[in-house]
Formats: sequence, C-alpha cells, structure tokens
Amino acid sequence: MADTTFTHSPPTGRVLALCGGVGGAKLARGLNAILPNPGQLVLAVNTGDDFEHLGLTICPDLDSVLYGLAGKNDEERGWGRANETWHCMEALKEIGGADWFALGDRDLAIHIERSHLLRSGLTLGQVTARFCEQLGVPAQMIPMTNDPVRTIVKTEEGDLAFQDYFVRRRTEPKVTGIKYAGADVARPHPVLMDCLADDTLEAVIICPSNPQLSIDPILALPGVRQALRDVRAPVIVVSPLIGGRAVKGPAAKIMAELQISVDSSGIAQTYLDLLDALVIDSEDAADARHLPVPALVTPTLMRSLEDSARLASRTLAFAQSLRQDASTSSHVAAGR
Ligand code: GDP
Ligand code: CA
Repeated sequence: MADTTFTHSPPTGRVLALCGGVGGAKLARGLNAILPNPGQLVLAVNTGDDFEHLGLTICPDLDSVLYGLAGKNDEERGWGRANETWHCMEALKEIGGADWFALGDRDLAIHIERSHLLRSGLTLGQVTARFCEQLGVPAQMIPMTNDPVRTIVKTEEGDLAFQDYFVRRRTEPKVTGIKYAGADVARPHPVLMDCLADDTLEAVIICPSNPQLSIDPILALPGVRQALRDVRAPVIVVSPLIGGRAVKGPAAKIMAELQISVDSSGIAQTYLDLLDALVIDSEDAADARHLPVPALVTPTLMRSLEDSARLASRTLAFAQSLRQDASTSSHVAAGR
C-alpha cells in the first residue's frame, strides 16, 4: 500500500468522515488504513435505517462500517459478514417467523449483543465503541446520535418505513420526499460536534454514500448543517456516482425522482451550502469544468482495500492542498 500522493506527510490531526453503509464503508476502510493513530479517524455513521425487528435493535449502517473496518465484510455479496450461514433464517421460516429481512447466523450475534447491552442501559455510542474495541478497529466510530431517528420514505404508495421501502419493496415505489422522524429533537453525538468545533481538524470527508438516505439524516440533526458550514477544515464530498450511475443501490433513481440532476453537479447542488470541494471519478472528468467548487478527478471505484486506501490518500492530500491554498490566500489578504 505504498503511497506517494501526500505532498508532505499524512495528516496528524483528526479527520471526520460522514458515512452511510456499504459505499461509505469502502472509503472508511481506506481512511482507517492510512490514518494510523487510534481515534484519529472519527466516523459519524447514519442511524436513520435502524429499526426494531424480532425484538432486536438492528443498525445496518453501523454494522456495514464495523464489518468493513474489521475485515469481516463479504466482498462478493456486498453486504453482511463473510463466511455467513443462514440456518437460523431457515428454522425461523419453518416456524412462521418473518423472513423478509435476511439475518445471517454470524450477523445475528451483533444484533443480540447490541440489544442486550442497550437494554442494560448503555448508549448506542457506548455499544459501538465496545464492538470496535473487541474487533480491534482503531477508528472512533460513532452513531450520528444516541437518540432514535427513523427515515421515512414518502412514495406514491404512501409513507414507508425505511426498511419497508428498501428491503420489502426493493426500492420500487417512486419517491416523492424523505423525512427523518425524530431528527429535529435528536442530539448529535457529542464527538461529532466536538470535531466540527475543532480548529485542528484536518478535513471533513462526506463518503460516497447515498446523499438522501445516508448523509441527509446526519445533516438533519440540530446544529450539524450549520457547524459544517462554519467548520474551518475543508468539507469534501466524494461522489457516489460514476458516469451518472450509482455503483449500487437506488441513489440515481431517487435523485431522478426528486428531480436532482444525476451527475456531479447534482451532487454539488445537494451539498452546495456546506461543501468546499468534490472528488469525482475520472469517467466524469468533463463535469469538473461546470462545477461550483474545485474538483479532484481520480478513479473512485473501490474494488479492493488498495483502491480504498488510494482514494482515501488522494482525498486527504487534496484536503491538505485546499488548506494550504486557504492559508496562502489568508496570508496574502493579511499582507495587503
Ligand atoms: P448503504 O447504506 O449500504 O446503501 O450504503 P451507502 O449509502 O454508504 O452507499 C451507497 C452508495 O455507495 C451508492 O450510491 C453507490 O453508488 C456508492 N458506492 C458504492 N461503491 C462505490 C465505489 O466503489 N465508489 C463510489 N464512488 N461509490 C460507491
Ligand atoms: Ca444504509
């Protein structure tokens, strides 16, 4: 994983990444691999997809990121744990239990233990920290909030709870809007707000996650959007689109249904009030000329840990160059 893209050396301060599930986890893995100091990478993860099922608290995005960082994710299937088996689901189906949400045997362990720990009084953040420690993950992974937020997808068929839309209805209904129930009163995780107030923060990276389903719930928490507008560190969005298509999942379909242009400029528009720069795929190089912010053009498809680390490293080097530009222009301004 030799890397020569840093102009000086890898950053020493904290890096904050906002992240959904599988797409976000791919970049998070790369960031985790190149930011060596424990706690240097802070990952604020979407919890809008969380739900209660069969008496268990399920946090799909936290688990995707945890499995990715711990090297336990299934690369082929693209979600869940590697070496998974499904005996419990089969037995559950036999006795008439709900089988629409696939829960692997190994995966079940995390839902059982998390539900148990939450019932014993730990916060979701404490439970997550415990799992990270147990699995040897050096990054500081936090849920965006310890309070319940539930994404509701407004569709032509009426309002659907997120997993009803995503898993049961396979994202087929046409989306007319999205709400994040509870977001207006949820308290952002204190570490998230602490990072955003940290003058030594190196960068805020918005991972290539679904903008409406994975990132917007985080931005909907009180104070987060404003803090991102005010933060001193550059805010860089890594686009989840390549050639006007999502690599996986309904991002392009939802953007089109919400009448957002399905390309780099649509991504820029979505985050316009808070973003400083974009990272877009080489395939979309022509978009760079029409964007309202600077863009780094580089391959963004992550098929391996090496791809992830390379993109992470280039994104951080880009952040470093933006910081240098900002400090040079403020010196120039001060000298006038
Ligand atoms: P989910 O919560 O598991 O659906 O995952 P996310 O919201 O974090 O990520 C979904 C997004 O990741 C989709 O819009 C994909 O286009 C994007 N994505 C997945 N893999 C890649 C990749 O290798 N490169 C880029 N640029 N985007 C990706
Ligand atoms: Ca998700």
